[in-house]
Amino acid sequence: CASSGSTAIKTALDAAVQDQGLTDTVEVCSVGCMRFCGRGPLVAVDQGDREPGQVLESDRLYEFVTPDHAPSLVASLQGGTPEATPGDWNHPFFAHQQPIVLENSGNIDPESIDDYIATGGYEQLYHTLMTLTPTAVIAEVTRSGLRGRGGGGYPTGLKWATVAKMPGDQKYVICNADEGDPGAFMDRSVLESDPHRVLEGMAIAAYAIGANHGYIYIRAEYPLAIAHLKKAIQQAKRHGFMGSQIFDAQFDFKIDIRVGAGAFVCGEETALIASVEGKRGNPRPRPPYPAQSGAWGCPTLINNVETYANIVPIIRNGGDWYANIGTANSKGTKVFALTGQVTNAGLVEVPMGTTVRKIVEEMGGGVPGGGSVKAVQTGGPSGGCIPEHLLDTPVDYDSLRELGTMMGSGGMIVMDQTTNMVEISRFYMDFCREESCGKCVPCRAGTVQLHELLTKLVKHQATPADLIKLEQLCEVVRDTSLCGLGMSAPNPILSTLRYFRHEYEALLQTPA
Ligand code: SF4
Repeated sequence: CASSGSTAIKTALDAAVQDQGLTDTVEVCSVGCMRFCGRGPLVAVDQGDREPGQVLESDRLYEFVTPDHAPSLVASLQGGTPEATPGDWNHPFFAHQQPIVLENSGNIDPESIDDYIATGGYEQLYHTLMTLTPTAVIAEVTRSGLRGRGGGGYPTGLKWATVAKMPGDQKYVICNADEGDPGAFMDRSVLESDPHRVLEGMAIAAYAIGANHGYIYIRAEYPLAIAHLKKAIQQAKRHGFMGSQIFDAQFDFKIDIRVGAGAFVCGEETALIASVEGKRGNPRPRPPYPAQSGAWGCPTLINNVETYANIVPIIRNGGDWYANIGTANSKGTKVFALTGQVTNAGLVEVPMGTTVRKIVEEMGGGVPGGGSVKAVQTGGPSGGCIPEHLLDTPVDYDSLRELGTMMGSGGMIVMDQTTNMVEISRFYMDFCREESCGKCVPCRAGTVQLHELLTKLVKHQATPADLIKLEQLCEVVRDTSLCGLGMSAPNPILSTLRYFRHEYEALLQTPA
């Protein structure tokens, strides 16, 4: 919305309220992401008192708003007819969502700690410090069944317990906000829309594992998220939610921000830690894992933005409540950035187990202009493509892995029938080739050679032997690379070969 001019709309609405003499009764508020990106900029008109997150019959939503709409929108509060396009909170895009991570997103001003506190913000930190032992916090998170939302799906409670058990006075918590998958913007939106939620989750995690220092590692391409985080940290300090003796408990905690230069590999946890330490962001072999020896050699907990954003509702409602949402092995909800050839692009938060078809066709409205879905890409450069006939697959860690793709951090790109799947593989391999840090040979040289083979294919210069070489090289790069970037780089090729092999074969050189 901001890139579509929402700042000018806010200015125009403020002016209209002034002009129409309504400053005593009408307030124009900036809020975070309202999720329906494909129809932005959005303006919500809320009338009447409500509980946080409650939607009333009198509430209105407007889409594709421009500054010119402002006078009629304000006049509509007194019975006039608004000129902007009406939206619908009951639209399938919203109706099938279950906002837990995004519950405050679009409802509060992300720059106002008072707004966050009004929704119960920092109450769970207070409750944790005053009434729970670190062991009890970890037990609650373990009971919730929450798994890491960065893509790996490692059980969060187990990770916390591992770091908590490690000896040492100095431990760290790190928030991985280095979201780098093409098409992914979930974490950015959470940080832009509700930064205090992440800070509170990190503080609870720090208490649970015995840390007193946290870092948020965020890429420089996210300036609004960085600005909101900086402001939120200052506010939290001023209100005594960060610093020494928080709530008079024996708990000190502070958070620093580390801005990364945008290398995709810095999303890998050992590279991220190196970058936090001020070194070049190169991965290193594991073990030791960061839980044993992370930042400056100390036990370190790394979770991503969405994982931390789930902690407050889990502490508030209990682990059992969370575990009742989702599937047997994938609990809770997942936020997806739904983009590509889809009518209703935006952020969707759905219970685990929702089918890809429901997200893409019911909520997303399918391909614009009556086109048909050919495939849905999940997991970014580490993931793969789900063909149309498998869209009834539920989104959970295990089902997506069985299809040869992965949940990833939540990018979901819809491709229509005109998409050339070999070109898609080539795009992702180009990305991995560019982003390879070059430390190990299989990835450094392998991604270049894979890209060359794909280029030969799209130029109709490849032979059947090249196609065999492509498959064999994918396996070598996958099996011998040092870190996750290289290990997963062949996935887009392998998954498109699995479902769209005929497209590769159709590009082979015609024998003379
Ligand atoms: Fe670097 Fe690639 Fe090796 Fe990872 S797999 S260490 S990104 S060269």
